[in-house]
Amino acid sequence: MITVQQHLQHLLSEVRPVREVQLPLSRAHGRVLTEDVLAQTDLPRFDCSAMDGYAVRAADLEGVDPEHPRNLPVEGDIAAGDGTPHTLLPGRAWRILTGAPVPEGADAIVPVEDTDGRPREVLVRRAPEGGAHIRRRGEDLAAGDVVLARGTRLGPAQVGALAAAGAGEVAVIGPVRVVVLSTGDELTPAGIPAGAGHIADSNGPMLAAAVREAGHYAVHAGHLPDDAGQIRETVRHHLDHADAIVTTGGVSMGGEYDVVKEVLSGEGSMRFTEVAMRPGKPQGFGLLGRRRVPVFTLPGNPVSALVSFEVFVRPALARRAGSRYHPVTLPALVTHGWESPEGKRQFVPVRLQRDPSGAYACVPTGPAGSHRMASAARADGLAEVAEEVTEVAAGEELAVRPLRPVVEIEARLVAEEERQAELAADTGNGRGRHRWRG
Ligand code: AMP
Ligand code: MG
Repeated sequence: MITVQQHLQHLLSEVRPVREVQLPLSRAHGRVLTEDVLAQTDLPRFDCSAMDGYAVRAADLEGVDPEHPRNLPVEGDIAAGDGTPHTLLPGRAWRILTGAPVPEGADAIVPVEDTDGRPREVLVRRAPEGGAHIRRRGEDLAAGDVVLARGTRLGPAQVGALAAAGAGEVAVIGPVRVVVLSTGDELTPAGIPAGAGHIADSNGPMLAAAVREAGHYAVHAGHLPDDAGQIRETVRHHLDHADAIVTTGGVSMGGEYDVVKEVLSGEGSMRFTEVAMRPGKPQGFGLLGRRRVPVFTLPGNPVSALVSFEVFVRPALARRAGSRYHPVTLPALVTHGWESPEGKRQFVPVRLQRDPSGAYACVPTGPAGSHRMASAARADGLAEVAEEVTEVAAGEELAVRPLRPVVEIEARLVAEEERQAELAADTGNGRGRHRWRG
């Protein structure tokens, strides 16, 4: 038996990022840069106005204040996008819009608020400081400077900066294409009525969704019977194109029904292990085929498969995509204690509440059971209980690994609090559930 940490370390030491690809910026969101990207142009590209107003020479307006306004003739308008070179003659002004190029000879912008705003001649009521409201060429970044360093993951702001700096294509770590395979004679594809003794394949759709939510491509999801030949052939087929394969089922200690284990044992660097955790004890992992594709064989029980994905597969796929995954846990107080297996890390699906002090409180979504998919679906996260703990006591604080975006959890809690407050107000008015205002 190995620890959760040991198994995770093993996976992370084996998994390598997929190959680099060149992608147009429009398709690079979410990818990780493999090269520094240099700015093609200065940013801003040219001196431009930061305000709607008038481009002037500051020296022409010395001494101007609300008691001593001064008139300047206006040469015309310069709008954003105006590419004509304009020159400002002494004693004159150009009306200018935000983002428009500053005319040659101007050294300040008078905001429209400090003028009477007229188009042909303008009355200026406040003298600008030299350089006022001019965005200088290159003040954000100079051409040739590094916009973003290699290793940066491209979120919206990064995509924006690359676009501004003139990047058309970027070199990034390619998308990770993941094949999800369920195994089990008892499985029927989701959505098709299951016959006697059969159940719906819930792991397949669940893990495909988990893969997508982690930012990767689930390129195939399907299910296989417990047939050695079919499992061998299907895995072999996908090794030619997949960047990772995730299977569920067939890896317990059950012997002849544990066909995944039987078929893959001894292949590549495949290793089947017991990990000191609950749920999720039987785990297998290895690099298979000439492309050394990471293959994760997860246990079949749905909650075990979900926990295994979160704890092992998600960080390993992040590494495959060139990034790192460290879960940010939420501290939550235990309201009612429970038992925890000795020597095993326990992952308990919990729903979060907010206790009167404002802290999160966690409540298991149901009795322990790695088959309880429906109750796990009510969970906001997985509460982690350390190996040595056998009794989780009320009042203790646990780290909860969110299973949904924290903003979504907060949205529900706030909605519940609002409903409580409304109910309390209504009861206080003695009006039951009827609102005072119609
Ligand atoms: P196994 O790991 O194959 O022994 O399966 C353990 C339990 O998980 C059994 O009760 C299976 O029926 C169930 N199971 C396995 N695969 C799936 C699946 N894809 N969807 C739902 N339940 C499954
Ligand atoms: Mg099975």
